[in-house]
Amino acid sequence: RYASIGFLGLGNMGKHMATNLIAANHHVTIFDVNPQALDHFKEQKQAKIVTVPQQAVQSSEFVILMLPNGKIVRDVCQSSLFPAAKKGTYIIDCSTIDVRTSKEMADMARSKQLSFLDAPVSGGTTGAQKGTLTFMVGGQENDFKAIEPILSKMGKNIVHAGTNGSGLSAKICNNLLLAISMIGTSEAMNLGIKLGLNTDLLAKLINSSTGQCWSSQTYNPCPGVVPNVPSSNDYNGGFASEMMIKDLLLALEAAKEAQAATPLTEKATELYREICSNGLNKKDFSVVFKYLNKK
Ligand code: NAD
Repeated sequence: RYASIGFLGLGNMGKHMATNLIAANHHVTIFDVNPQALDHFKEQKQAKIVTVPQQAVQSSEFVILMLPNGKIVRDVCQSSLFPAAKKGTYIIDCSTIDVRTSKEMADMARSKQLSFLDAPVSGGTTGAQKGTLTFMVGGQENDFKAIEPILSKMGKNIVHAGTNGSGLSAKICNNLLLAISMIGTSEAMNLGIKLGLNTDLLAKLINSSTGQCWSSQTYNPCPGVVPNVPSSNDYNGGFASEMMIKDLLLALEAAKEAQAATPLTEKATELYREICSNGLNKKDFSVVFKYLNKK
């Protein structure tokens, strides 16, 4: 069955996710505050492009959000989504935001007879493009079952993490580890190169040794090691360093509340702050390699 889906936020991630829904023959209506983000869809002619968010919401059974942060998610929900959505609409928020905002949105949605689920993703822009994302979903079991077929067109691991906010809790833990592993991979690659090792050989050795991780294998920060990732494209596209700071701050906030020790998360936040204040805020977070290399 083909569903009518509204999609808000067609940036680095959203554009690929929406493209996969269109390829699966769903009826997709798209909106982004930045008209340039929609250029990509003009040639395809299969997506319906609208100029106000309400038009992407009012006749949709599902609305997907892929927005930068919690403040924007809240604004969009309160000003256009909740007033325009018809009863029974499933709102699937795939953005990485704080648990509290997400739970509040879920409560507000419920009072309007709408279903709101947090469904943040992992897998990066490559995963979004290939349709291999992992979705970590927070919400009621029956709502999860209802959205699962839609998510399966954009990802290959669709996991029900628990009640509202649980998907985000898992996502925040994952990204804390990702930031640390990206910094670690960059330190190791940079040191190895300065010790005279061949870049490809070093990457290959790490990837068949105990240091192997997603940052070294799939998304190596050293230019030329992996084709078609941001490091091989002057760190453009991908996941902006300023977005990584946002996620690290979410982790620190959650850790403070839960009284969990996170010494390396604190260090990673400091380093990404330094990177951003050096004008690299829009560059992919793997730019940490270039930053260390030039230091
Ligand atoms: P992005 O900045 O490339 O895209 C966000 C899009 O939202 C932009 O096109 C922007 O114009 C649009 N937007 C902003 N305000 C809007 C509004 N009010 N209404 C409609 N559209 C609006 O960001 P991204 O990299 O695609 O990330 C989106 C979300 O996904 C973030 O929460 C991020 O943390 C998360 N995420 C990103 C990655 C990644 O690798 N890029 C991976 C996992 C999760």
